[in-house]
Amino acid sequence: MGNNGNEKDHVSELNSFLSLKKIADARSGYEDARYIIFGVPFDNTSSYRRGSRYAPDSVRDAYVNLESFDFNYGIDFTEIPIADLGNTGETEDASEIVDQVDFITKTIFSDNKIPIMIGGEHSITVGSVRNIGDADMVIIDAHSDFRDSYMGNIYNHACVTRRSLEILGKGRIVSIGTRSISREEFEDPRFRDVKFVTSEDVRRSGIDTVISEIDRKNRKIYLSIDMDGIDPAYAPAVGTPEPFGLSDYDVRKVIERLSYKIIGMDIVEFSPIYDNGNTSMLAAKFIQNFIGSREKYLKEHL
Ligand code: MN
Ligand code: MN
Repeated sequence: MGNNGNEKDHVSELNSFLSLKKIADARSGYEDARYIIFGVPFDNTSSYRRGSRYAPDSVRDAYVNLESFDFNYGIDFTEIPIADLGNTGETEDASEIVDQVDFITKTIFSDNKIPIMIGGEHSITVGSVRNIGDADMVIIDAHSDFRDSYMGNIYNHACVTRRSLEILGKGRIVSIGTRSISREEFEDPRFRDVKFVTSEDVRRSGIDTVISEIDRKNRKIYLSIDMDGIDPAYAPAVGTPEPFGLSDYDVRKVIERLSYKIIGMDIVEFSPIYDNGNTSMLAAKFIQNFIGSREKYLKEHL
C-alpha cells in the first residue's frame, strides 16, 4: 500500500502511539524503515508474576549498551532503516489490546515492512497472527498455551497457541521448547494439530535438526518468542518460569537460520521486575540477531 498515497495516513495513525524511549539504533521514520519496532505494555491476564508491561522500555534501556556494529554479521545497525514507534496506549482489556495489535500489524504488513513487537504478555500475539496470511508460525515457549479459555478469558496468555490454531489451521504451527502442558490440553484431540517440540526433544536431536525440518517446508514464518521458552538460568525474569529449558544459543540459532524467511516477530513475557539485567539484555540481543542475520542474508543474496 506504500505507493498508492495512503502511506501518510498510516504514518499519522501510527504516530498516535509515540512515546519517548526508542531503540538506540532506530534512526528512521516509519516511511523509510524496513523494520518497525513497537512496544505493547500489557500484562493484565498474567496469572503468576506480572510486570511484562515494563518490558518494552527495559529492553530499550538494555539495548543502549549493545554495540551498533556486529562483526559476526558484518552489519552496522545504524545503516539499517529501523523505526521505533514507541508504545501502544495501555488498556486493561485483552481483546482490546489484541485488536490494537491487529490494526498496527495489518498496517505494517500492508506497507511491506517487518514488525518487531516487544510485549507485554503472550496474549498480544493473536493480533499479529490475524495478519500473517499464508505464513507459518514458529513459537518458542515452555508452555503449550493451548487452553480454550483461562480465568474466563479466551484472550488469556494461556490460550495464544489455541487462538492461533483457529486462525491458521492444522499443520501451520511449530512450538519449540514445550515442557508444561495441562492434562486437559494434552488430551484435547486438536492438540495434535500443532507440532510441539519439547525441550527434551531439542536436547536429544539438537536444535539444528529441528530448524532444518521447519526450513524444509519452504514457507514464510512469523516468529513468536515467549522468553520463558529459554531456561530460567539464561532468562530468569519471566512471568511463569519453567526449569529445563532451551539455551540462549538454541534460540539464537532459530532466529539466525530462519530470519531470511521471517516476515515479523515478537518477544513477550519478559517481566523486568524480576530481572538481574540478563533477560532484558538477551531480549535486546535477539532483536539484533534477527535484524543482523537477515540483513547479512539480503546482502549476500540480493
Ligand atoms: Mn506463552
Ligand atoms: Mn510461556
